Amino acid sequence: MELPVDVGVIYEGERISREDAFVELGGSETGVELLRVVSSEEIEDGAVKITGEDFSGMEEGKAYPFGLLVRIAGEKLEEDVEGVLERRIHEFVNYIQGVMHQNSRDRVLVRVRKDAVAKGLTLTDIGRALIQLLKKEYRAIERAEVQIFTRKEEVESLLTEAREVYRRRDEKAAKLRDEDVDVFYGCTMCQNHAANHACIIAPSRVSGCGVISWLEARAAVKIGEGAIFEVPKGKVIDESKGEFEGVNKAIADKSRGATTRLYLHSLFDYPHTQCSCAQAMVFYIPEVDGFGIVDSNFKGKTPFGMNFSTLIKQVGNGSQHPGFIGIGLAYLRSPKFLQGDGGWSRVVWMPSHLKESLREVIPPEIYERIATEKKAEDLEALVKFLEEKGYKLPSKEEVAEEAPAQEAEEAQPAAAQVVHALPRRRVTVAFINSTFHFKKLIITTEKEKNI
Ligand code: SF4
Repeated sequence: MELPVDVGVIYEGERISREDAFVELGGSETGVELLRVVSSEEIEDGAVKITGEDFSGMEEGKAYPFGLLVRIAGEKLEEDVEGVLERRIHEFVNYIQGVMHQNSRDRVLVRVRKDAVAKGLTLTDIGRALIQLLKKEYRAIERAEVQIFTRKEEVESLLTEAREVYRRRDEKAAKLRDEDVDVFYGCTMCQNHAANHACIIAPSRVSGCGVISWLEARAAVKIGEGAIFEVPKGKVIDESKGEFEGVNKAIADKSRGATTRLYLHSLFDYPHTQCSCAQAMVFYIPEVDGFGIVDSNFKGKTPFGMNFSTLIKQVGNGSQHPGFIGIGLAYLRSPKFLQGDGGWSRVVWMPSHLKESLREVIPPEIYERIATEKKAEDLEALVKFLEEKGYKLPSKEEVAEEAPAQEAEEAQPAAAQVVHALPRRRVTVAFINSTFHFKKLIITTEKEKNI
């Protein structure tokens, strides 16, 4: 493939700051991607169609709306595989030198480095690379085409179509329960940025990125998706918390011994691990003995002063952090949502837009007493709000018991102590069957690079 930049797995971890980016696609503007399986006749194989401006017509330093539609066909492809292959877009676009892709579905952000555009990189090149990488990885894909939109009108239209498809996929997946199957699935696709992380995908618990349901994982295994594997459930150890012998065995193996026990439906003791792709975080607030939920679309702060991106940077490293879990948004609609901890009865705070979107899911008697950023910007306001609503708050002794012991920080509120107990920029480096020769190696932090 003749491209003005290199393409390869070595570029996958490339970070591009706003200052280094020629333009930003999606992010603060709408950014959406969708992959569909269609019939062969509907596809012009290998075609990349651009609607709107390519880089040559864009102004440096600006953000543009971005829509990416990939259509594929093949005799062995079924609709259930769409979510998994859509998730590979994230990985494959990151293989392109000078291009950084983040998130998935309708939260996509792409940054393109100035020097890549100076070398002549175009959106058409990105589409061509994507088609080739998908076809190379999956022999079941016989024909593929890519459409890229950068004009607001067409991007919004793709967004509407995509949200309807996401809704249908999530609805279909929600009909199954953990107890209906003998096999769960696991995924290690994100171990490149969260070394020991593996998602366990059960019918009642969608993946952390929210893109891969149990049905989609099953379809992916059928077409030989290497990062996704079967996890026989084995003996049930704790039905309520969702602990299974087979899951513990699989997670110990895939995390190389870093995680040996895992609860699917509890955030205490042995919670599921997460990587930076999580769509939302659930966090424990000891002062009120309740849970807060924050999603990646909410840019404000949680009652304990952290926003989503700071929180996910602290705990999204593939390790277990009792009191915190990263989840796919569809898990909030699962009847088993944190059932081992009391589920919705323990939820006390969430952003107003998220709360509104779950109006038909949250039990009505609980809905009214869940605070949002409008009523409770900080912990003090949250406690006051819950007192007024008659929520049973824990005593001071109970709060002290729940919070991690930190002598030097005794005077701080318990939630602050939980935050202080989070890891400080832990770095995990795993080199497997690899040989490296460095003349010079410079390591900088993300902060230094001002990302
Ligand atoms: S978040 Fe989990 S399921 Fe999604 S791609 Fe990463 S490892 Fe796989």
